[in-house]
Parts: sequence; structure tokens; C-alpha cells
Amino acid sequence: MRRIQRVAGVVVGSAVGDALGGPFEFGPQGAFSARFPAPGAGGEMCGGGGWDPGEATDDTQMAVLVAQSLLERGELDLPDIFTRFQRWAASEPKDIGLQTEDVLTNGMPWDLAAAIHFQVNQRAAGNGSLMRASTSAAHFAAAGQEATMDAARRIAALTHGDRAAWEGTAIFHELIRVTFEGTDPLPTLPDILALVHPEHRARYATVLAPDWHPDRATEFNGAVWPCLGSAVWALRTTTSFEDAIRAAIDLGGDTDTVAAVTGGLAGAYYGLDAIPAHWTQPLHVPLPGFDGRVLHLADLLHLAHRLGS
Ligand SMILES: [Mg+2]
Repeated sequence: MRRIQRVAGVVVGSAVGDALGGPFEFGPQGAFSARFPAPGAGGEMCGGGGWDPGEATDDTQMAVLVAQSLLERGELDLPDIFTRFQRWAASEPKDIGLQTEDVLTNGMPWDLAAAIHFQVNQRAAGNGSLMRASTSAAHFAAAGQEATMDAARRIAALTHGDRAAWEGTAIFHELIRVTFEGTDPLPTLPDILALVHPEHRARYATVLAPDWHPDRATEFNGAVWPCLGSAVWALRTTTSFEDAIRAAIDLGGDTDTVAAVTGGLAGAYYGLDAIPAHWTQPLHVPLPGFDGRVLHLADLLHLAHRLGS
């Protein structure tokens, strides 16, 4: 498979998972396959819960903002990403994570806002930095293991003061990097865990173990550990892009984000052509705060090509 298939796969796959999962957010287990029992039948981009059919949520909107900053600035410009996030957050997006909203609107400078939020609240290990990592993972893969994990941590830290969120996002970046090289990412997990900060290694080793199941999660899957663990589980226990996404949404809970992370991993693994056209065709990404701009599949593919070259 050509590398660009995988690069486009992570960007589009994550957006597709996000848009499919959005209408099922906070719903019960099994809701997706109860409504769509036959895989491949179509109609799954159904909308609902305030979302139009094919509409991507905050996960993809923020991933696009990161992509546009990386491409327009030509480097990792953290204050620029933070400013774009703030502009978006101030424009009343349909959905925004509680923690992300607080950090982006509390008036603190970019390099203090998340840290101060963490100091005050002591809980900041949501999945909100992991959910938006598809574009940065696509971009930094070519820079190598250390650089991509470092970039993941620094972008995560813009909104999440808890190092657990940085490490989970760094693991995702590295999984995408090895997948781009044509390597099966799952056998590399022990090597990746060795690169995780020692204080956070054991907890990730638990949720990424081959015998872990989302039923064993000790937190809601809006937290970073079960979210990443569930996405890896969905990839491990299925054999197609479509089935991985169905498994992820059927877990219930934070379905858009679990499916966005799953879609990123599965999109890189199976490649763009494995993503059903009836899922990519209605896909669109509004960008509140940016002149009413709405990105469609062609725009995401253009972004992916530029990020990966
Ligand atoms: Mg969302």
C-alpha cells in the first residue's frame, strides 16, 4: 500500500468515525448495530442529537485547526494553535469538552492555561487531546519516533495539564508512525510502552494489553486511558475498517471520540480505499469562527496530502 493511502486514511478515517459516532454520544451499548444490523447496508451517516448527517464534531474540527496551523506556519507554532483553538471556542461550536472550554476561555496565556486548570481541578485526563491527534500524527510521522511523540505531548499540553493525556496522545502518534511504515502496530505496543513516562506506563500497559476488554475499564471512556484502550481493542478484534468503527460506537458512552480515535488507527492500517464511500461522501467539517468555512472530503484529502508530504 502506498504511504499516502495511510496518511489520507488516518485523517479521513478519524473524521468518519467522529461523524458516525456523534449521534450516538452518551447512548447505551449496542445502539449502533441495533439500528444498523447489516454491515454495509448504508444510511449509517444518520445525523441526530443536533448533528446533521455526515457532520463531524469538535474532535475533527480541532484536528483541522491543528492541520491548518502546521501548514500555514510551516512549523509547530504552539501559541498559534492555541489562538486558533480560542477563536473556535469563542464561536459557540455545537460541542466542546468541558475541560477544553475552560482552558481556552479562562483568559490565561497559552503556556499556563492548561497547567493552572490542572492545579486547580486536579483532574485533567480527558480524551480531548487524543481525539484531535489525527492530523498532527500524520504530519510528524516522517520526523521519526522521538519527534512525533514530543509533538504529541506538546500539542496535548495546550489544553490538558495532566501528563496522562500527553502520554496517551504520544502513544497514538507513535502507533500511526509505525503503521505508515507498513508495520503491524499491535506487536509494537510493548516497545511503545517503554517510551511512555514511567509514572504513566503501568496504566497504559493495562488498557493496551492483548486480553484487555472495554468492559474492564475503571473510568468512563471520556477519560484518555479507556478511550485509547478501546480504540486499540476495536482494531485488534475486527478485520475491516467498517467493523472496527461499528465495534467502537457499539461501546456506547463517548462514541464520537472513541470512534474518531479508532477511525484514525484503522484508517492508517487499512488505508483510505477501505473506508466506505457512503461514509466519506456525506462527510463535512464545519469550522465555527473561521468565516463559515465547511470542509468536505476533497478538502480533507488536500490537507492530508500536504500534511504527509
Ligand atoms: Mg466530539
